[in-house]
Amino acid sequence: GAYTRRADRVVRSVCPFCGVGCAVDLHVRDGRLDRVEGAPGPANAGRLCVKGRFGMDYVHHPQRLTTPLIRRPDAPKDPALLTRGPGGRPDPHALRAQFRPASWDEALDVAAAGLARVRDAARSLGLRGRAVPVAGFGSAKGSNEEAYLFQKLIRSAFGTHNVDHCTRLCHASSVAALMEGIGSGAVSNPVRDCAHADLIVVMGANPVQNHPVAATWIKNAVRRGARLVLIDPRRTELSRHAWRTLTFTPGSDVALLNAMLHVIVTEGLVNEAFVAARVHAGDVQALRAHLQAFAPEAMAPLCGIDAATIREVARAYATSPAAMIFWGMGVAQHSHGTDNVRALIALALLTGHIGRPGTGLHPLRGQNNVQGASDAGLIPMVLPDYRRVADPAARAAAEAAWGLPNGFLPDEPGLTVVEILDAAYDGRIRAMLIQGENPAMSDPDAHHARAALARLEHLVVADIFLTETAALADVVLPATAWPEKTGSVTNTDRTVQLGRPALAPPGDARADAWILEQLARRLGLDWDYGIDPHGGGGAPDNGIGRVFDEMRSLMPALAGLSWERLLRVGAITHPVPTADDPGHPIVFTDRFPTPDGRARLVPACLGAPAEPPDAHYPFVLITGRQLEHWHTGAMTRRSAVLDALEPTPHVSLHPATLARLGLAPGAPVRLRSRRGEVSVATRVDEAVPPDVAFLPFAYVEAAANVLTIAALDPVAKIAEVKYCAVAIEPVTSP
Ligand code: SF4
Repeated sequence: GAYTRRADRVVRSVCPFCGVGCAVDLHVRDGRLDRVEGAPGPANAGRLCVKGRFGMDYVHHPQRLTTPLIRRPDAPKDPALLTRGPGGRPDPHALRAQFRPASWDEALDVAAAGLARVRDAARSLGLRGRAVPVAGFGSAKGSNEEAYLFQKLIRSAFGTHNVDHCTRLCHASSVAALMEGIGSGAVSNPVRDCAHADLIVVMGANPVQNHPVAATWIKNAVRRGARLVLIDPRRTELSRHAWRTLTFTPGSDVALLNAMLHVIVTEGLVNEAFVAARVHAGDVQALRAHLQAFAPEAMAPLCGIDAATIREVARAYATSPAAMIFWGMGVAQHSHGTDNVRALIALALLTGHIGRPGTGLHPLRGQNNVQGASDAGLIPMVLPDYRRVADPAARAAAEAAWGLPNGFLPDEPGLTVVEILDAAYDGRIRAMLIQGENPAMSDPDAHHARAALARLEHLVVADIFLTETAALADVVLPATAWPEKTGSVTNTDRTVQLGRPALAPPGDARADAWILEQLARRLGLDWDYGIDPHGGGGAPDNGIGRVFDEMRSLMPALAGLSWERLLRVGAITHPVPTADDPGHPIVFTDRFPTPDGRARLVPACLGAPAEPPDAHYPFVLITGRQLEHWHTGAMTRRSAVLDALEPTPHVSLHPATLARLGLAPGAPVRLRSRRGEVSVATRVDEAVPPDVAFLPFAYVEAAANVLTIAALDPVAKIAEVKYCAVAIEPVTSP
């Protein structure tokens, strides 16, 4: 049978889907991926979920881009094409017909010339910094080296920090609050450290579906005796293993968490020794005063959890010898996401549950390399290693490493993802380079986002499929899938792992890093890394190896990890400050990376959702992922097994909601918000609270983000894609 066939080659790599970062063995036969098996990596010890094991056949899908494409002059950019096809999906032939094939030389020339034209016109007007009308979205799905090159290209070629990626839509609020509180946006303890926890809090995350192998480690910890507290508006599958499940009212995170903090400060549960040694003097007093108004009895009606349960859970967390907090998009993706995370940080700091085994703060990263792309500086506020663009020394170091004149880099942050598309809509951004991201599906208020992309004077997209975003481009450059190239990725645990090429890119597709190098040269930069166009290479003295070593020269966290060392060890957890340092799975053991080594407690304020339900839009919409599909579906909907398991979209509703609407499970409905509408079949799900609808965002024919709101957290600029108001109406056909 298929599973006993001998492979021609077995290549050790990393799963390309979620942030857990499972090590995989890619079995290759006759130049094709024959099967995938779990390998003994630090994050998975051989375990894999359905996506890693069965989802990687997208690499061989017939819709892979195999030649560069240039938009035909008679093909206007039309967002309506994205839903004008069988079943409300785009017709791939109609999308493809907008373009003509081109040689690499011609496509790169046209791509670079359009970007240069907009840049040079802006320069002649004296525009600088965020006013430069060019922007880039890099990707958390590529390698560290690609992310590093992407941000370097945008910054060096255009003199702007208008460069961002999907972290803005997932954990930007977590990173903002963590940087402010403890001086680092990364996790403090790896997932598998929950094996040493006595109590585990999982809030606003559904790891069984979104980080499945992480969920297995949590379940193992529960079997060993740890108590699990699940805090989520939905009673997700993990609740079967939970000691307490708190299905709180969506949007009331701060009310619930501050009530727990109130219990801790009023019942003498503060770890005074830890606070005295590790927290900024005076912060505790200010927080105590702030928390006076948050007694559990006062907050219970707001958050829908009775006061006794709030007190019980707060006491259990504070008095456990070791307690660990995981959180996900349900906490972060709100217009008050930064405040939500501030409250979680305060829980850990007041109780001293950080810096030891089995404790700490772990924002579960969504994509395989969102940690690494952020580390590499693919963010408008920071250069590599989170060095602020306002810091003259950080700018000077980057300018020296990149051969730029002194004072070339601007000192103000660039625009963020949603701000860039807003600027594209009103003409302040006129040209963009997008690599491996799909904002036509992933950005909130998708009609607006798609119109903004269509209005761009010049859009260059490098990707492996003609995604909804690529379909609005002027030039499309066929790139490589993860199993086709050399590169490193950094998972949610901060573990840097090596991906090795197992397959040749299809047709004339080329390595993403090579594409960036070619564009850079055409934009006047003297890049000469010697990157292999076909994704191979990786010797320490050229190509990806040279990129990695240049990157680490700007990153103290990776200073001791040469490319040669990474090739040798395959995986290591940063920070790795010196060549003989073994890496640090647990950090903040004796100080925080703040100027004085102490953490800050920042009071979290109650924030109302931007768009509460009302008489016209009486239901709350929550969006998210599901086990079988990943993000915008570009890869997983082209995987035979995953697509067979979940071929069509559903909106999940509580039986009481279906009854209120007079609908049977499976009945088609129209979901309507102030921004758009989608038609979709219903699915009964008792885990979803009454009057709440859950819609995954992987399906273009019922795109959840057509409905969502672009309200932003004022600190982190993350959008509130976890909460908006919708109407639900029966329809006769989906
Ligand atoms: Fe891949 Fe994540 Fe599944 Fe591991 S848990 S196999 S990294 S999708």
